Amino acid sequence: MSFEKLGVIKQLLSAIEDLGYKQPTSIQTRAIPLVLAKSDVFATAQTGTGKTAAFGLPMIQRLRKTSADENRVLRGIILSPTRELSLQIYDDMQGFAKKMPLNIAVLVGGKDLDYQKRVLKEGVDIIIATPGRVLEHIDKGLDVSNVEIFVLDEADRMLDMGFVKEIKRIHPLLPKRHQTLLFSATYSEKVRKLSKLILTKPAFIEA
Ligand code: AMP
Repeated sequence: MSFEKLGVIKQLLSAIEDLGYKQPTSIQTRAIPLVLAKSDVFATAQTGTGKTAAFGLPMIQRLRKTSADENRVLRGIILSPTRELSLQIYDDMQGFAKKMPLNIAVLVGGKDLDYQKRVLKEGVDIIIATPGRVLEHIDKGLDVSNVEIFVLDEADRMLDMGFVKEIKRIHPLLPKRHQTLLFSATYSEKVRKLSKLILTKPAFIEA
């Protein structure tokens, strides 16, 4: 299999080549076409399987813009359990999107809230964040009503850390029609319950 055959566009193929990815991994082969087709996805995948690119590449492709002058409206949110994982996803996403006019920001606790507010004011297309920090920004006026893609990475860890309240508060603020991608290392009862609440006719994938 090749990334090209999965439907990945040229600008992304060139970025992937620069990163040294020769072939899609198993989770990427299964997830990329589903995400491009706008399906909700429930994927069980461990770190190291290439899961970040499995949601990140098609997400960037779906939210791509033709020029940097187009409106910057928040259209994608990636939630992750920790600051470290958020920063790692951010690095990967910047690498994938480097040839595309997308503004990507990372919002994590422990960093200056006012600085993050200024970044958001300038306009971002995609944010990567921990659930608590997103809610803080929402409470201060961040508009999530145009979000088209909502990703929960390491959902089981987020639930173990008690973030269910935050996720349940964020979800109803998103527009009715949006795509949700849930990635989890395990298929626990808690994750299954959350998936029933936030996913619509999901495709199931196991890495
Ligand atoms: P992840 O599971 O997303 O944490 O990715 C694990 C590692 O595999 C990261 O260092 C990625 O850069 C790398 N990686 C992801 N996809 C591929 C691929 N298709 N070919 C080679 N390396 C990859």
